Amino acid sequence: MAIRKITEYPEPVLGEVGKPVTDFDKQLEDLCADMFETMYDAEGVGLAAPQIGLNLRLFVMDCDGIKLIAANPEVIHTEGEQSGQEGCLSVGKVPAVVVRPLKARLKAQNEKGEWFERDAEGYAARAFLHETDHCDGKLFIDHLPKLRRDMVLKRFKKEKGWK
Ligand SMILES: [Zn+2]
Repeated sequence: MAIRKITEYPEPVLGEVGKPVTDFDKQLEDLCADMFETMYDAEGVGLAAPQIGLNLRLFVMDCDGIKLIAANPEVIHTEGEQSGQEGCLSVGKVPAVVVRPLKARLKAQNEKGEWFERDAEGYAARAFLHETDHCDGKLFIDHLPKLRRDMVLKRFKKEKGWK
């Protein structure tokens, strides 16, 4: 296992629609192990393949008691609404309030290629949506009004400048 370098805004791969995962082999298992290790190291609750520079529809998460690998993820049902803080490892964890559905149902394949569905509510539902967005080339800041999006990016750039 190895910790991978996290891709940060504005790397182009973060804005690309990911390619489907087609090979459910040892290589994919190793990749997922690296992704979990990278996520835990960065103290995140989810990590998508584009965030380590790979154009792939794949994410891992461990959030609110839901730990899973999701290949070719799709959110097939949502319900309600929640407003809460959200951040992203690729945008320096700068937080912003994002309105999302309260509940979400995820359909995806596990590391063996078996399809599953999983329901989540609250923070874990937010993670389903956030990570699936990454696979579609979308970042959480794309859900923000322009002014707030600019504020997040300004703070992120400033923080980068301090390092
Ligand atoms: Zn993210």
